[in-house]
Amino acid sequence: MSNSAHTLRFWGVRGSIPTASIEQIHVGGNTSCVEVTAADGSHIVFDGGTGIRELGNNIARMHEDYYEIFIFLSHTHWDHIIGLPFFAPLHQPHARIHFFGPRRSSESLENAILGLFQPPYFPLNSRDIKAQTTFTEFETGEHEFGNGFKIKYAPHPHPNGAISYRLEANGRVIVYITDIEHTKDQLVPSVIELAQGADVLIHDSQFHKEDLPAHRSWGHSSWEECTKIAQIADVKQLFLFHFDPSYSDHDVADMEIRARRVFPNTTAARQGLTIEIPLP
Ligand SMILES: [Zn+2]
Ligand SMILES: [Zn+2]
Repeated sequence: MSNSAHTLRFWGVRGSIPTASIEQIHVGGNTSCVEVTAADGSHIVFDGGTGIRELGNNIARMHEDYYEIFIFLSHTHWDHIIGLPFFAPLHQPHARIHFFGPRRSSESLENAILGLFQPPYFPLNSRDIKAQTTFTEFETGEHEFGNGFKIKYAPHPHPNGAISYRLEANGRVIVYITDIEHTKDQLVPSVIELAQGADVLIHDSQFHKEDLPAHRSWGHSSWEECTKIAQIADVKQLFLFHFDPSYSDHDVADMEIRARRVFPNTTAARQGLTIEIPLP
């Protein structure tokens, strides 16, 4: 399958914990999961929050023969991995799933993920996973894939650590940065570098700027910081992402309006939003 565009789809945009209240249904309650279906059909996924369940059902239905999925995890806090036990491709023997995530001294990425699949937290054991899996730990650097895609990555400040990603594919650049805390006086330099000239920047926007001071050291950002980075790094399109679980649809819409006054090509991501990124 080959196409003239990459397709970006948001399967989960909520931060911290899933929500299901009626005031939040437009933005959506699933936690972090973003899919890029590359123009050549490659499956690329950022984070495995609750949004990855429906994504997995979708992908699993598409394939009866061998196929691969590349999953890039920002970190292993619950809201970024909790959907994985319900990710249907893990239960298909003809799937090969490559996990990438930050290196931590305390525990391997493999153990952190496979630890989800065990009693008393889950009825299945990691031995019941039928897909082939690989686990690659990243610190700072870049990684090239067989199809010519490149992923660049760098760690950023967040409790227990997290990692930012820049995907370069067929001349298009998609940058995924979530669960990040900038300091009061300085935006994280590696983030500005990774975001430079991106076609699409997806960035943690957990809080309104007024709410950020009360949540210092929680590891998150404000829409104001997102728009500053978008301007400085000269990105083309900005998506606000990872909204606080207490924020209503109204709160997020208000955030979008205010952010657009600073950086006009801003969209507050919502569950189900799908955009095409035409190849150059
Ligand atoms: Zn999170
Ligand atoms: Zn986190």
